[in-house]
Amino acid sequence: MNPLILIIEDEAPIRKYLSASFVDAGYRVNEAASGEEGLRLAVDYPPDLVVLDLGLPGIDGQEVIQQLRQWLRVPIIVLSARDQEAQKILALDHGADDYVTKPFGTGELLARIRAALRHAASSPTGNVVTFGTVRVDLAARTVHRNHEIVHLTPLEYKLLVTMIRHTGKVLTHRFLLREVWGPNDVAEPHYVRVFMANLRRKLEEDSARPQFFLTEPGVGYRFHSAV
Ligand code: CA
Repeated sequence: MNPLILIIEDEAPIRKYLSASFVDAGYRVNEAASGEEGLRLAVDYPPDLVVLDLGLPGIDGQEVIQQLRQWLRVPIIVLSARDQEAQKILALDHGADDYVTKPFGTGELLARIRAALRHAASSPTGNVVTFGTVRVDLAARTVHRNHEIVHLTPLEYKLLVTMIRHTGKVLTHRFLLREVWGPNDVAEPHYVRVFMANLRRKLEEDSARPQFFLTEPGVGYRFHSAV
């Protein structure tokens, strides 16, 4: 059966347009005009992916994400307006996977949906992850590049593993600080930048043009294992 997408968007023209585009692309679709209706539909017809507008009447998008994330693991892609930068970052902190900024092209959104569904389906199998010429053995805690061992500090390794565990997902600075340095650490946001630069230098072919450890401007980072 084709994947089911739940659209939660209060503006009817946008909702109808998204719905038609998704159906054209071969997906099944459920539409909700409010957060309340979206939560109800998610329970009755568990979706494979949620497309969620952040600006909703009644309970807002942030609340919807928090409630969905209590029981639903599928990807959530957020639609945000240009002036909602802080809202977008908060949504990612609450557990959204990705975002597109309005106005967006359907092609871009469909590409994000395909990527998110692909990552959701590729559950972490085995202990070895490869990308480019890099091979990470999560059981042995070793990293090789071109068959040569790469020496990472414990924090660099922890950052690498955190990125790998959330392949394809946009990770905010706050999320990475919490995961890698811990909730009680006084780590500064620039730590992430410094350690990301180290990972790129050690693992990317060209650290100035990263292929795997990508920057999401103003938000954080995203790891792509396949190019
Ligand atoms: Ca709206």
